Amino acid sequence: IKGVFGSSIAFYNESLRERLLFEQRILNTMEDSLKRGDFQIYLQPKVEIATGKLIGAEVLVRWIHPEFGLISPGDFIPIFENNGFIYSMDLLVWEKACALLRKWKDEKRECIPLSVNVSRRDIYHEDMIQNLSDMIQKYRIQPEELHLEITESAYVKNSQQMREVIMRLRKLGFIIEMDDFGKGYSSLNTLSELPVDVLKMDLEFLRQGENTKQREQIMQFVINLANEFKVLVIAEGVERADQADLLKTMGCRYAQGYLFGRPVPSEEF
Ligand code: C2E
Ligand code: CA
Ligand code: CA
Ligand code: CA
Repeated sequence: IKGVFGSSIAFYNESLRERLLFEQRILNTMEDSLKRGDFQIYLQPKVEIATGKLIGAEVLVRWIHPEFGLISPGDFIPIFENNGFIYSMDLLVWEKACALLRKWKDEKRECIPLSVNVSRRDIYHEDMIQNLSDMIQKYRIQPEELHLEITESAYVKNSQQMREVIMRLRKLGFIIEMDDFGKGYSSLNTLSELPVDVLKMDLEFLRQGENTKQREQIMQFVINLANEFKVLVIAEGVERADQADLLKTMGCRYAQGYLFGRPVPSEEF
């Protein structure tokens, strides 16, 4: 114990101290914020590259914090995943998405499917399937209007239980999108066996830098494979027209990214 303690002392500097204080504030304020409605949803368009046509939108959470102002999910999702609060927060986000779809229907607007994020941890929550089914009933929407984005790493660490839950969700009619695909390169060869409807190709594929050629080759491989298995591919993080062109040439039809639209508050969308 002494050794472990000693090494952590070495890392204990001002920024770690700040980090710990920040985390403590997060933990102390999350419950009240949830009740008060400080968690809000932003939407980002998903489009068909060739036509620019809107095919859906991803729902991304934002925390309008009373002290810190707008905080990005990257700063609090990992904390919530650790302490289990993620499920309460995700339930709220999913419900907001369902309520928005209901609102669009009531206003007789054209509806597009909304994709919500599902944490690995949510999948192990015993009430998840029931809660989702209740929700779409309550808001009178179709399951295929609510897409569930599950990260690739969740599949890779793939326990039997995880697969079963995903299988049951699909049977109920929910559409499953595998998020951050390719980040670990690990599921490339098991694509044919995975219960999934849509692949979201990780934005790292499009980043400039080393191994650009190699990354393009992998991207092409993924797109071909997906097309063969009739799985839709959506490229993430498309910021420039030349990236969109490249994707189109490679046979990738759909994209999401700043080029087509940044995440905006749902009222603005
Ligand atoms: P993600 O699911 O991979 O979401 C895509 C992220 O990429 C979003 O970051 C989005 O704003 C960002 N992005 C979109 N287009 C571009 C682009 O062209 N370039 C670049 N550089 N980035 C782009 P965001 O909103 O900060 O979310 C970060 C992560 O937090 C998400 O990654 C997701 O894993 C998680 N997250 C967000 N909302 C929720 C939620 O409601 N529940 C759960 N469990 N996780 C969430
Ligand atoms: Ca996502
Ligand atoms: Ca992603
Ligand atoms: Ca991500």
